[in-house]
Amino acid sequence: MKELILLKCGELALKGLNRRSFEEILMKNCRRRLEELGKFKIHSSQSTIYVEPQSEDIDLDEAQDRLLKVFGIAALTRAAVLEKDFAQVLAKAPGYLKCLEDVHSFKVEAKRSDKSFPLKSPEICAELGGALLEAYPHLQVDVHHPDVTVYLEVREQGAYLHTDQLHGAGGLPVGTSGDACLLISGGIDSPVAGYMMAKRGLRVMAVHFVSPPYTSEHALEKVRTLCRKMVPYCGRIRLAVAPFTNMQVAIRDHCPEELFTVIMRRYMMKIAERVALANGCGGLITGESMAQVASQTLQAIACTDVACQMPVLRPLIGMDKDEIVKIAYQIDTFETSILPYEDCCTVFTPKHPKTKPRLEMVLKAEEKMDEALLEEVFQGITYETIG
Ligand code: ATP
Ligand code: MG
Repeated sequence: MKELILLKCGELALKGLNRRSFEEILMKNCRRRLEELGKFKIHSSQSTIYVEPQSEDIDLDEAQDRLLKVFGIAALTRAAVLEKDFAQVLAKAPGYLKCLEDVHSFKVEAKRSDKSFPLKSPEICAELGGALLEAYPHLQVDVHHPDVTVYLEVREQGAYLHTDQLHGAGGLPVGTSGDACLLISGGIDSPVAGYMMAKRGLRVMAVHFVSPPYTSEHALEKVRTLCRKMVPYCGRIRLAVAPFTNMQVAIRDHCPEELFTVIMRRYMMKIAERVALANGCGGLITGESMAQVASQTLQAIACTDVACQMPVLRPLIGMDKDEIVKIAYQIDTFETSILPYEDCCTVFTPKHPKTKPRLEMVLKAEEKMDEALLEEVFQGITYETIG
């Protein structure tokens, strides 16, 4: 039986005049996520997006799994495509609804946007319900709390038969809120931060600082893997790899040890801002969470925040580690994040970092730094595309 996937957009409907362009972006994102699986026709009508496979051999289970990760989709359902001939509907519905074998109660709901269809909604419900009871005599009708609701939607293009919808990923389509640059480490937090901002419609690119030989190729490979795991949600990710060794050596050699971390973080923000500007991004994203470590106290954040002009988005700021870990599991980044490779943040870390750094002291310490190093890091950046 021919099947398709119907998508309901969530917040999209609230966007009034922009709705059409939001829908276009969402459809483009869906096309991109499904393109490896075969040819699909994707179009919208009456606030529903239709995803129609164009050949028999397309794996619709996989398509559904992928669409469940696409932001901007509030709910999703697989449906059988039937002719708008009620005798055909009655003949085919029991065979399609095998899931009724495993439940006790059901009800039928009908939506008839094609008013030329000869039966009215209550008649559709009564007749289709009767046919299903005949095919599955163990069932009971329960209009208040059914185990399964069967829907028949009679629309312009055809009649669609399906059961309850699945929850989609929600949020806004990636790309509808602009572009931002994620500072990605190999840790647990930053991939989660990127995921959360993609959910709000930002297209995410990433910058990662490496310090060879203190950090290994494995550490960089781990970040690539994390990006790959973010792709089903965020879409394709452009990754900038920034060589940070000389900068870190200079900070170690010229600045007080206790300020090493905050100064390093400030240079990271400055370079990330340049990367962001060069790539059309309007903001930065970090995985910082209030007071999680010495560099994330309010005083330390005050010092890093003024290192750049762009808005710095910190979606994890108010979250506990276990809440962050839960999301990391859900998006399958956790196991990769806990692989024990050195990040450049753990290179030269002071034994006693200052938890309440004062900006005057930090700025004074930075006077000893050669600003040309910033340009050197920026010029040494290499780009790759993941996904
Ligand atoms: P994470 O789990 O994301 O590594 P963390 O709790 O280890 O975070 P820090 O090491 O203080 O915290 O880093 C704070 C933020 O700085 C990270 O969330 C990330 O956004 C950024 N960051 C840290 N290291 C790097 C790096 N090597 N390259 C790019 N960004 C980094
Ligand atoms: Mg870290």
